[in-house]
Amino acid sequence: MTFTSRRFLNTSLAAAPLLLGSAALPSRLLAATPASLDWQLLDRDGLALIEGAGGSVLVLAGPDGVALIDGGSVDSVGSVLATVEQQTGKLPSLLFNSHCHRDQIGCNAVLGAAGATIIAHENTRLWLTTEILSKWEQQVYPPLPASALPNKTFYYDSETIDFNGTLTYGYLPQAHTDGDIYVHLPERNMLFVGDVVSVGRYPLCDFSTNGWIGGMINSLNQLLALCDDNTRVIASSGIADKAHVQKQLELCSAVADKLGTALYQGSSLPEFLASKPTADFDTAWGNADLFLRTAWEGTLPHVTEIRRFGRRA
Ligand SMILES: [Zn+2]
Repeated sequence: MTFTSRRFLNTSLAAAPLLLGSAALPSRLLAATPASLDWQLLDRDGLALIEGAGGSVLVLAGPDGVALIDGGSVDSVGSVLATVEQQTGKLPSLLFNSHCHRDQIGCNAVLGAAGATIIAHENTRLWLTTEILSKWEQQVYPPLPASALPNKTFYYDSETIDFNGTLTYGYLPQAHTDGDIYVHLPERNMLFVGDVVSVGRYPLCDFSTNGWIGGMINSLNQLLALCDDNTRVIASSGIADKAHVQKQLELCSAVADKLGTALYQGSSLPEFLASKPTADFDTAWGNADLFLRTAWEGTLPHVTEIRRFGRRA
Protein backbone atom coordinates (compact mmCIF):
# COMPACT_ATOMS: atom_id res chain seq x y z
CA MET A 1 0.00 0.00 0.00
CA THR A 2 1.40 3.34 -1.01
CA PHE A 3 0.92 6.30 1.24
CA THR A 4 2.13 9.76 0.54
CA SER A 5 2.16 12.73 2.85
CA ARG A 6 0.89 15.77 1.03
CA ARG A 7 -1.67 18.50 1.11
CA PHE A 8 -4.66 17.79 -1.08
CA LEU A 9 -6.05 20.72 -2.93
CA ASN A 10 -9.78 20.73 -3.20
CA THR A 11 -10.59 17.28 -4.53
CA SER A 12 -12.70 17.31 -7.66
CA LEU A 13 -16.21 16.92 -6.40
CA ALA A 14 -17.45 16.23 -9.87
CA ALA A 15 -15.43 13.02 -9.70
CA ALA A 16 -16.55 12.04 -6.25
CA PRO A 17 -19.74 10.18 -7.20
CA LEU A 18 -17.78 8.11 -9.74
CA LEU A 19 -15.16 7.24 -7.17
CA LEU A 20 -17.81 6.28 -4.71
CA GLY A 21 -19.75 4.05 -7.07
CA SER A 22 -23.01 2.90 -5.47
CA ALA A 23 -22.33 5.19 -2.53
CA ALA A 24 -22.72 8.27 -4.72
CA LEU A 25 -23.05 11.48 -2.79
CA PRO A 26 -26.40 13.20 -2.57
CA SER A 27 -26.21 16.41 -4.57
CA ARG A 28 -26.88 18.54 -1.50
CA LEU A 29 -23.60 17.33 -0.03
CA LEU A 30 -21.68 18.62 -3.00
CA ALA A 31 -22.58 22.24 -2.44
CA ALA A 32 -19.71 23.15 -0.14
CA THR A 33 -16.28 21.82 0.66
CA PRO A 34 -13.20 23.06 2.48
CA ALA A 35 -10.52 24.71 0.41
CA SER A 36 -8.04 21.96 1.21
CA LEU A 37 -7.55 18.83 3.25
CA ASP A 38 -4.30 18.01 4.98
CA TRP A 39 -3.28 14.34 4.72
CA GLN A 40 -0.64 13.61 7.30
CA LEU A 41 1.04 10.22 7.44
CA LEU A 42 1.38 9.19 11.09
CA ASP A 43 3.25 5.92 10.66
CA ARG A 44 4.49 3.59 7.94
CA ASP A 45 1.82 1.04 8.67
CA GLY A 46 -1.31 2.56 7.17
CA LEU A 47 -2.19 5.27 9.67
CA ALA A 48 -2.90 8.82 8.52
CA LEU A 49 -4.70 11.92 9.72
CA ILE A 50 -6.94 14.17 7.63
CA GLU A 51 -7.29 17.71 8.96
CA GLY A 52 -9.34 20.56 7.54
CA ALA A 53 -12.55 18.52 7.27
CA GLY A 54 -14.32 19.88 10.35
CA GLY A 55 -12.99 17.56 13.06
CA SER A 56 -9.92 15.37 12.68
CA VAL A 57 -10.37 12.18 10.66
CA LEU A 58 -8.01 9.31 11.54
CA VAL A 59 -7.54 6.80 8.71
CA LEU A 60 -6.40 3.26 9.49
CA ALA A 61 -5.71 1.17 6.38
CA GLY A 62 -4.40 -2.39 6.10
CA PRO A 63 -5.26 -5.99 5.27
CA ASP A 64 -8.64 -5.79 7.02
CA GLY A 65 -9.70 -2.75 4.99
CA VAL A 66 -10.00 0.91 5.88
CA ALA A 67 -11.40 2.35 9.10
CA LEU A 68 -12.18 6.01 9.73
CA ILE A 69 -12.19 7.27 13.28
CA ASP A 70 -14.64 10.14 12.87
CA GLY A 71 -15.75 11.27 9.44
CA GLY A 72 -15.42 15.06 9.43
CA SER A 73 -18.28 17.40 8.57
CA VAL A 74 -21.05 16.85 6.04
CA ASP A 75 -19.62 19.64 3.91
CA SER A 76 -16.36 17.69 3.58
CA VAL A 77 -17.63 14.19 2.90
CA GLY A 78 -16.90 14.19 -0.85
CA SER A 79 -13.36 15.41 -0.33
CA VAL A 80 -12.68 13.08 2.60
CA LEU A 81 -13.85 9.91 0.87
CA ALA A 82 -12.24 10.76 -2.45
CA THR A 83 -8.97 11.46 -0.63
CA VAL A 84 -9.17 8.20 1.32
CA GLU A 85 -9.84 6.20 -1.82
CA GLN A 86 -7.07 7.94 -3.70
CA GLN A 87 -4.57 7.25 -0.91
CA THR A 88 -5.61 3.72 0.08
CA GLY A 89 -7.38 2.32 -2.98
CA LYS A 90 -10.43 1.49 -0.87
CA LEU A 91 -13.46 3.04 0.75
CA PRO A 92 -13.93 2.62 4.50
CA SER A 93 -15.87 -0.38 5.75
CA LEU A 94 -15.64 0.69 9.41
CA LEU A 95 -16.45 4.11 10.87
CA PHE A 96 -16.36 5.38 14.45
CA ASN A 97 -18.35 8.35 15.72
CA SER A 98 -16.54 9.82 18.74
CA HIS A 99 -19.75 11.73 19.55
CA CYS A 100 -22.88 13.12 17.90
CA HIS A 101 -21.67 16.53 16.64
CA ARG A 102 -21.88 17.45 12.98
CA ASP A 103 -18.10 17.85 12.60
CA GLN A 104 -17.72 14.12 13.34
CA ILE A 105 -20.61 12.37 11.58
CA GLY A 106 -20.31 13.73 8.03
CA CYS A 107 -19.57 10.35 6.44
CA ASN A 108 -22.39 8.46 8.17
CA ALA A 109 -24.99 8.85 5.43
CA VAL A 110 -22.76 7.75 2.56
CA LEU A 111 -20.90 4.95 4.34
CA GLY A 112 -23.98 3.73 6.21
CA ALA A 113 -25.89 3.43 2.93
CA ALA A 114 -22.91 1.54 1.47
CA GLY A 115 -23.07 -1.03 4.29
CA ALA A 116 -20.24 0.13 6.56
CA THR A 117 -20.21 -0.74 10.25
CA ILE A 118 -20.65 2.46 12.29
CA ILE A 119 -19.56 2.17 15.93
CA ALA A 120 -20.60 4.67 18.60
CA HIS A 121 -21.87 4.89 22.14
CA GLU A 122 -25.59 4.20 22.38
CA ASN A 123 -26.27 7.76 23.55
CA THR A 124 -24.73 9.08 20.33
CA ARG A 125 -27.07 6.88 18.32
CA LEU A 126 -30.02 8.09 20.36
CA TRP A 127 -29.10 11.75 19.84
CA LEU A 128 -28.87 11.15 16.10
CA THR A 129 -32.37 9.65 16.01
CA THR A 130 -33.94 12.84 17.31
CA GLU A 131 -33.98 16.59 16.78
CA ILE A 132 -31.24 18.26 18.81
CA LEU A 133 -31.82 21.78 20.12
CA SER A 134 -28.35 23.19 20.73
CA LYS A 135 -29.09 26.01 23.15
CA TRP A 136 -25.62 27.52 23.18
CA GLU A 137 -25.55 27.64 19.36
CA GLN A 138 -29.23 28.63 18.99
CA GLN A 139 -29.39 25.88 16.40
CA VAL A 140 -31.65 22.90 15.71
CA TYR A 141 -30.17 19.76 14.16
CA PRO A 142 -32.57 17.33 12.47
CA PRO A 143 -32.37 13.57 13.04
CA LEU A 144 -30.37 11.44 10.61
CA PRO A 145 -32.01 8.87 8.34
CA ALA A 146 -31.96 5.31 9.64
CA SER A 147 -29.22 4.23 7.24
CA ALA A 148 -26.88 6.91 8.63
CA LEU A 149 -27.21 5.89 12.27
CA PRO A 150 -24.53 3.99 14.19
CA ASN A 151 -25.32 0.29 13.78
CA LYS A 152 -22.98 -1.15 16.45
CA THR A 153 -23.30 0.54 19.82
CA PHE A 154 -22.35 -0.18 23.41
CA TYR A 155 -23.35 1.12 26.84
CA TYR A 156 -20.63 0.53 29.39
CA ASP A 157 -16.86 0.45 29.79
CA SER A 158 -14.92 -0.60 26.69
CA GLU A 159 -14.82 -3.15 23.90
CA THR A 160 -11.91 -4.45 21.82
CA ILE A 161 -11.85 -5.55 18.20
CA ASP A 162 -9.08 -6.61 15.84
CA PHE A 163 -9.00 -4.45 12.71
CA ASN A 164 -5.53 -3.88 11.27
CA GLY A 165 -4.35 -4.37 14.85
CA THR A 166 -6.00 -3.93 18.22
CA LEU A 167 -8.69 -1.24 18.56
CA THR A 168 -10.18 -0.63 21.98
CA TYR A 169 -13.01 1.86 22.26
CA GLY A 170 -14.45 3.00 25.56
CA TYR A 171 -17.02 5.28 27.11
CA LEU A 172 -16.19 8.70 28.55
CA PRO A 173 -19.35 9.50 30.50
CA GLN A 174 -20.88 12.98 30.29
CA ALA A 175 -17.82 15.00 29.27
CA HIS A 176 -18.14 17.01 26.03
CA THR A 177 -21.50 15.23 25.42
CA ASP A 178 -23.06 12.20 27.13
CA GLY A 179 -21.97 9.90 24.29
CA ASP A 180 -18.21 10.50 24.01
CA ILE A 181 -15.87 7.61 23.30
CA TYR A 182 -12.13 7.22 22.95
CA VAL A 183 -10.48 4.84 20.48
CA HIS A 184 -7.16 3.39 21.67
CA LEU A 185 -4.63 1.83 19.30
CA PRO A 186 -2.22 0.34 21.85
CA GLU A 187 0.29 -1.15 19.37
CA ARG A 188 0.71 2.31 17.83
CA ASN A 189 0.53 4.09 21.20
CA MET A 190 -2.19 6.36 19.86
CA LEU A 191 -5.37 7.57 21.50
CA PHE A 192 -8.23 9.25 19.61
CA VAL A 193 -10.24 11.43 21.97
CA GLY A 194 -12.72 13.44 19.88
CA ASP A 195 -13.62 16.75 21.50
CA VAL A 196 -13.07 15.67 25.11
CA VAL A 197 -9.55 17.04 24.74
CA SER A 198 -9.23 20.44 23.11
CA VAL A 199 -6.18 21.76 21.25
CA GLY A 200 -5.59 25.47 20.62
CA ARG A 201 -8.82 26.60 22.22
CA TYR A 202 -10.78 26.14 25.42
CA PRO A 203 -12.79 22.90 25.69
CA LEU A 204 -16.57 22.89 25.56
CA CYS A 205 -19.16 21.17 27.73
CA ASP A 206 -22.18 20.80 25.44
CA PHE A 207 -24.88 20.89 28.08
CA SER A 208 -27.57 20.47 25.37
CA THR A 209 -26.37 16.86 25.06
CA ASN A 210 -25.58 16.50 28.79
CA GLY A 211 -21.88 17.31 28.76
CA TRP A 212 -20.51 18.83 31.96
CA ILE A 213 -17.21 19.76 33.53
CA GLY A 214 -17.28 17.08 36.25
CA GLY A 215 -17.68 14.39 33.60
CA MET A 216 -14.88 16.01 31.63
CA ILE A 217 -12.58 15.85 34.66
CA ASN A 218 -13.40 12.17 35.17
CA SER A 219 -12.83 11.49 31.48
CA LEU A 220 -9.48 13.31 31.39
CA ASN A 221 -8.31 11.14 34.30
CA GLN A 222 -9.55 8.08 32.42
CA LEU A 223 -7.56 9.13 29.34
CA LEU A 224 -4.41 9.91 31.33
CA ALA A 225 -4.44 6.33 32.61
CA LEU A 226 -4.14 5.17 28.97
CA CYS A 227 -1.22 7.47 28.14
CA ASP A 228 2.50 7.40 28.62
CA ASP A 229 4.88 10.23 27.78
CA ASN A 230 5.10 9.10 24.15
CA THR A 231 1.40 8.60 23.45
CA ARG A 232 0.04 10.61 20.52
CA VAL A 233 -3.33 11.99 21.53
CA ILE A 234 -5.51 12.83 18.52
CA ALA A 235 -8.26 15.33 19.29
CA SER A 236 -10.86 16.65 16.87
CA SER A 237 -9.04 19.97 17.07
CA GLY A 238 -5.46 18.69 16.63
CA ILE A 239 -2.62 16.52 17.90
CA ALA A 240 -1.67 16.59 21.58
CA ASP A 241 0.15 14.52 24.16
CA LYS A 242 -0.15 13.40 27.76
CA ALA A 243 1.24 16.69 29.08
CA HIS A 244 -1.49 18.60 27.26
CA VAL A 245 -4.20 16.36 28.70
CA GLN A 246 -2.72 17.03 32.14
CA LYS A 247 -2.86 20.79 31.48
CA GLN A 248 -6.51 20.56 30.48
CA LEU A 249 -7.21 18.61 33.66
CA GLU A 250 -5.57 21.39 35.71
CA LEU A 251 -7.65 23.99 33.85
CA CYS A 252 -10.92 22.12 34.36
CA SER A 253 -10.17 21.41 38.02
CA ALA A 254 -9.40 25.08 38.68
CA VAL A 255 -12.63 26.19 36.99
CA ALA A 256 -14.67 23.50 38.77
CA ASP A 257 -13.27 24.78 42.04
CA LYS A 258 -14.42 28.32 41.26
CA LEU A 259 -17.77 27.11 39.89
CA GLY A 260 -18.45 25.25 43.12
CA THR A 261 -17.64 28.29 45.23
CA ALA A 262 -19.70 30.64 43.04
CA LEU A 263 -22.77 28.42 42.97
CA TYR A 264 -22.70 27.80 46.72
CA GLN A 265 -22.35 31.54 47.34
CA GLY A 266 -25.41 32.17 45.16
CA SER A 267 -23.52 34.10 42.48
CA SER A 268 -25.07 34.77 39.10
CA LEU A 269 -23.48 33.85 35.76
CA PRO A 270 -22.57 37.52 35.03
CA GLU A 271 -20.90 37.75 38.45
CA PHE A 272 -19.02 34.51 37.80
CA LEU A 273 -17.81 35.75 34.40
CA ALA A 274 -16.83 39.13 35.89
CA SER A 275 -14.61 37.35 38.42
CA LYS A 276 -12.41 36.23 35.48
CA PRO A 277 -12.04 32.67 36.71
CA THR A 278 -9.68 31.72 33.86
CA ALA A 279 -7.34 34.71 34.10
CA ASP A 280 -4.36 32.40 34.71
CA PHE A 281 -5.18 30.31 31.63
CA ASP A 282 -6.30 32.75 28.93
CA THR A 283 -2.84 33.32 27.47
CA ALA A 284 -2.53 29.61 26.73
CA TRP A 285 -6.14 28.80 25.84
CA GLY A 286 -7.65 31.94 24.27
CA ASN A 287 -11.17 33.31 24.74
CA ALA A 288 -12.89 31.56 27.64
CA ASP A 289 -16.39 32.99 27.24
CA LEU A 290 -18.09 29.99 25.62
CA PHE A 291 -16.25 27.51 27.82
CA LEU A 292 -17.34 29.31 30.97
CA ARG A 293 -20.94 29.79 29.86
CA THR A 294 -21.35 26.13 28.86
CA ALA A 295 -19.50 24.93 31.98
CA TRP A 296 -21.87 27.01 34.13
CA GLU A 297 -25.05 25.79 32.40
CA GLY A 298 -23.84 22.19 32.38
CA THR A 299 -23.13 22.29 36.11
CA LEU A 300 -26.63 23.43 37.16
CA PRO A 301 -28.07 19.87 37.06
CA HIS A 302 -25.01 18.70 39.04
CA VAL A 303 -24.86 21.42 41.66
CA THR A 304 -24.81 18.89 44.50
CA GLU A 305 -21.72 17.21 42.99
CA ILE A 306 -19.58 20.07 41.72
CA ARG A 307 -17.57 20.59 44.88
CA ARG A 308 -16.18 17.06 44.56
CA PHE A 309 -14.31 18.16 41.43
CA GLY A 310 -12.37 21.25 42.47
CA ARG A 311 -8.63 21.41 43.10
CA ARG A 312 -9.17 20.78 46.78
CA ALA A 313 -11.48 17.83 46.20
ZN1 LIG B 1 -17.99 18.14 19.50
